[in-house]
This record gives sequence, C-alpha cells and structure tokens, in this order.
Amino acid sequence: MHNLNIQPITLPGLELKRPIIISGPCSAETEEQTLATAKELAAQGVKIFRAGIWKPRTRPGAFEGVGTVGLPWLKRVKEETGMFVGVEVATAHHVYEAVKFGIDLVWIGARTSANPFAVQEVADAIKGMDIPVLIKNPVNPDLELWIGAIERINRAGITQIAAIHRGFSSYDQSEFRNHPQWQIPIELRRRIPELPIITDPSHIAGRRDLLAEISQEALDLNFDGLIIESHTCPDKAWSDAKQQITPLALKDMLDNLVLRRPKI
Ligand code: PEP
Ligand code: MN
Repeated sequence: MHNLNIQPITLPGLELKRPIIISGPCSAETEEQTLATAKELAAQGVKIFRAGIWKPRTRPGAFEGVGTVGLPWLKRVKEETGMFVGVEVATAHHVYEAVKFGIDLVWIGARTSANPFAVQEVADAIKGMDIPVLIKNPVNPDLELWIGAIERINRAGITQIAAIHRGFSSYDQSEFRNHPQWQIPIELRRRIPELPIITDPSHIAGRRDLLAEISQEALDLNFDGLIIESHTCPDKAWSDAKQQITPLALKDMLDNLVLRRPKI
C-alpha cells in the first residue's frame, strides 16, 4: 500500500462528473484569442479551461509563452464565462503569480515532472495551499519518477491531486507524438487506485485526426477525464497547431464518444 493522502478534486459550485473535461489552447497568445476560445468552449458546456502562459519549448527560439501578462486574461475568462482556469507551473515564481491572480488549478508539465529539483521547488512554493494540482507523466516512461513527483506534491500538504497521462517520448518514429504506453497509467492506477487519471490525447497524438480514438481508448480503460487542446483557429496557433481543434469540433468529438463497459 502507498502512504499518500489523495482526496477528490473539488471546485466550488461544480459537480465534477466523469469524464472530467478540460480544454483550452496550448498557449494563451492574445487576450482576444484567449477570451474567444473560452467563450466558445463555455457555450459547448466545458467548465474547466486550460491555457499555458509559461511554455517549456524543447528548442529555444519558439514562442515561449506570454508570461505573467496572460494572467489577467485568465481572470477575465473566469469572470466572463464562470469557467475554472488552470495553468502550467514550473517554478516557485509561477506558483506565486498564478495564485495571486486567482487561478483555480495548476498542472506540472512533462519536462518538469522529470526533474525532482523543479518538482520540489513547486511543492515548497505550494505548501499548505488548497489548490488542485495535476501532475503530467515525465517525458520518459518512468513510473517511479511520476509517482515521486506525486509524492513530493502530496507531502507538501496538497491532497487534491490528479495524474495526467500525456504519453512518453521515444527516439523511434511512430504515428504518435508521444507513445501512450497504456500499461504505465494502468499500473499507476493499480498502485494508487484513488488517484484520478486524466488522459491528454492532444500531446499523445500530436495531430488532430487521432484524438477521437485515443479519447475512446481512455474511456474504455475507465480513466477519469480528458484534457484536450482547443483554439478558435487551430492552424494559426502559435504552439502545437497540428493537434488543436476548434471548440465546435471538440463538442462533436465528445458527443461521439461512447461510454461502454470498461475493458479494465
Ligand atoms: C502543454 O500542456 O501544453 C504541454 C506543454 O504539455 P506537456 O508538458 O505534456 O508536453
Ligand atoms: Mn501543448
């Protein structure tokens, strides 16, 4: 048995039904794009909005996020749509800024969860706060490292934790941007049964035409939710353009998923 204390995620006034759906752009690019995407998502019934403002890019020179100036945009999203908003945090500074602007939940990205120093820095900054933290799997297929990141956050007193399964990188070419390696989140669930697992088909696929089948697989495995990137104009997105879909396409895709008896 593990020695974690994991409690259900509660967002005030929201009854979190499975599958939990989180959506929004890879990056907040402009105030207009952020608000427009959020309003379209809210109109489709999405309650939790995601947008990266600090973007961990693999190589320098790409768009690295708007930074703190994006936080008031997310505050407007909250005020004008009633959605809950989440951002990626990778440093103590990110945590303090996000909390100052009333961000409702944060997530730790795949490059950060691979680095215990960085996870510990986030854990120390977030200590004692009552905020849900979603922890992406590390970029590499290392279950112990993923569990270690979960433990670090939990030891900081955070109990509202969920894991995000975003696939694992490999040098070999495959149809996936990050191979799903479903056996790893399945084993995570065996080890920590009460930990919700949210699948991120966008970063697994890297392309929009695979999103539906990956989402269906996640539901068939009885995982708890989906986090999917969306944009009002996906092809023009400043990051991850190939994998984003419009809010309308998202609604259409979700409506076509079937809840059948889980495989596992
Ligand atoms: C993201 O969610 O936009 C992101 C950078 O994802 P990951 O950390 O999974 O690569
Ligand atoms: Mn992205």
